[in-house]
Amino acid sequence: MEYESGNIFSKILAGEIPCDKVYEDDYTLAFRDINPQAPVHILIIPKLERATLSDCTENDVELLGRFSLAAINIARQEGLQSYRTVINCGADADQTVFHLHMHLLSGRKFSWPPG
Ligand code: 5GP
Repeated sequence: MEYESGNIFSKILAGEIPCDKVYEDDYTLAFRDINPQAPVHILIIPKLERATLSDCTENDVELLGRFSLAAINIARQEGLQSYRTVINCGADADQTVFHLHMHLLSGRKFSWPPG
């Protein structure tokens, strides 16, 4: 998939654009979504640049594991009992920023199937 270099999340990672940071470790950065879809809406991004989930390979096992663990750590940190994680992969899945990210949503009742 096409990778748009210099996208907004790369700029946030580089400190060129501010964010409301909630968590950071050696592998990931997490910050509040600028347009929240739930009372809690946090974006988790890997520090290594991958455009989409589909761009990850066997070499990214640690990246993906750390990325998932970050969601668990943030949910604990925020005291979330119940939450939804979402990775939109590709334009038809409504991915708009092509730097891999996970949405962590909580604070309201969610329905299924998603829209
Ligand atoms: P996607 O649609 O790619 O899965 O999600 C991209 C998310 O990034 C959207 O929920 C959007 O609100 C969020 N977003 C876009 N630009 C910014 C920004 O500059 N700062 C923050 N914190 N979130 C952003």
